[in-house]
Amino acid sequence: MDYCAGANPVANMLVMDQMKNIAIVGASLAGLRGAEELRRQGYDGELTLIDASEHHPAIDRPPLSKEVLSGKWTPEEARLEIFEDVRARLILGVAATGLDLEAGVISLADGQEITFDGLMIATGAGVRHLRCPGSDLPGVMYYRDLDDCLTLRDHIERGSRVAIVGGGFIGSEVAASLALAGLEVTIIDTVPLPMEAQIGPIMANHLADQHRAHGVTLKLGAGVEAIEGETAVTGVRLTGGEVIPADVVVTGIGVIPNTAWLAESGLEIDNGVVCDEHCRAIGAENVVVAGDIARFQHRGYDRAMRIEHWTNAVDQGEYAARALLGTTADGYAPLPFFWSDQYDMHVQFAGVKGQEEEIVKGSVEEGRFLIEMRTDGNLTGILGVNQNAAFGRARRALAAELAAAVPVTG
Ligand code: NAP
Repeated sequence: MDYCAGANPVANMLVMDQMKNIAIVGASLAGLRGAEELRRQGYDGELTLIDASEHHPAIDRPPLSKEVLSGKWTPEEARLEIFEDVRARLILGVAATGLDLEAGVISLADGQEITFDGLMIATGAGVRHLRCPGSDLPGVMYYRDLDDCLTLRDHIERGSRVAIVGGGFIGSEVAASLALAGLEVTIIDTVPLPMEAQIGPIMANHLADQHRAHGVTLKLGAGVEAIEGETAVTGVRLTGGEVIPADVVVTGIGVIPNTAWLAESGLEIDNGVVCDEHCRAIGAENVVVAGDIARFQHRGYDRAMRIEHWTNAVDQGEYAARALLGTTADGYAPLPFFWSDQYDMHVQFAGVKGQEEEIVKGSVEEGRFLIEMRTDGNLTGILGVNQNAAFGRARRALAAELAAAVPVTG
């Protein structure tokens, strides 16, 4: 077992005693779960939670493209649950704008300066913007927050024609919800198959078939040349010249880690905040990083990873809290996992994609199957569609394999 500083109980007490004033920047899923874990671990000092959004608890994002969009849930039902009284000072509706590591000070947009002796960075990621003529026209929207979801619900009521740029997680889930609501939907993506990079060709082909079967038009391998319209969106012009008529354009072309406020901090920034296997920011022992913004060294895969999935925000938030207090032992080496609900498919994926893939249970025709993915004969990932029990077993086995592969040192 690899022990980081303070994993022995006596040393833990010292580390915990030294920390009197912890700040968490970003109070969404990773930050909130991190705050709860600090208290669960017995941290009794000051705790400050800072977030640019005024809403607390923050919205839980997965239902925004499904249950809330379809109207099955109210927005209030999609708020994050709070499991622990975190006894925190909340600073909401104010963005962090700078970090002075030497002085232990966070600067805020309203001029406040917040001191800390331990810091968790959990500011997540923001949408990547579409850059083409017309991309700032009214009716071009992104999909990240509750307001975006409510705007799109209005379009459902109006029966709008929807063009979706990007057929990834957001594009595919939103398309499924809108198609089920009876809207005319077109997905435009530069890739030849939706989500193939994440889910492999068998599932990506099946997903494309499902979209088409539900009336969604797919424009794949297609770039966006311009958004058309004078005062508002009227359509999307593709690179070949074809125009897709639309009243609203939903853009889901990926996210970018929210690191701008750390530009002058001296922290290493490279597609996220670079941290070690214990989620500690490189060169700053008292700073940990969690969630979409953390680019950490994964010991099981022996490479740097940034994981944008919901379960990672929970697990890494909790892990980073323990790392800050010095109560972690092994490095953070999770088995990546996500789920996605589209049409009547509950899709689950664990691990990483492999070079080969094979259906080992069920069939595409039945709409229930389990795929194993391998590279050089080694199992790397599994994907299940409506196969909860078999997927659960396979996921546990893969997690055990990954844990066994993590090198043992110290
Ligand atoms: P995404 O899953 O990365 O998909 C973006 C897609 O847009 C990719 O296929 C990308 O192709 C394509 N694309 C990029 N630039 C484009 C352009 N100019 N024109 C047309 N297509 C373009 O990102 P997302 O759907 O925006 O999701 C955002 C975040 O939300 C992700 O972090 C995701 O993990 C998270 N999320 C997760 C879930 C879930 O776990 N169920 C659900 C919703 C959202 P290339 O790959 O070739 O760039």
